Amino acid sequence: MVNHSGVVETARKQVSAARAVMAGHRPASHGCCSCGRHLPCSVALACARTNEHHSGILAALHQGA
Ligand SMILES: [Zn+2]
Repeated sequence: MVNHSGVVETARKQVSAARAVMAGHRPASHGCCSCGRHLPCSVALACARTNEHHSGILAALHQGA
C-alpha cells in the first residue's frame, strides 16, 4: 500500500489555488476576461489546466476534488 497523503495534500492545494485564481478570471462582456485580457485568457487557461491535472490525480486516487 503506497502512502499517497503527500500527493493528495499537494494536489488539493494546487486545485484550491487554481480555483481561487480562476475566480478572478471569468468571461466578461464583449469577449474579454474579467481581468481585462481578450478571451481566451492565458491565465484562465493555465489555471484550468492546473485544476484539471490535479483534479485528475485526486480522482485517480479516489480522494475527491
Ligand atoms: Zn483573465
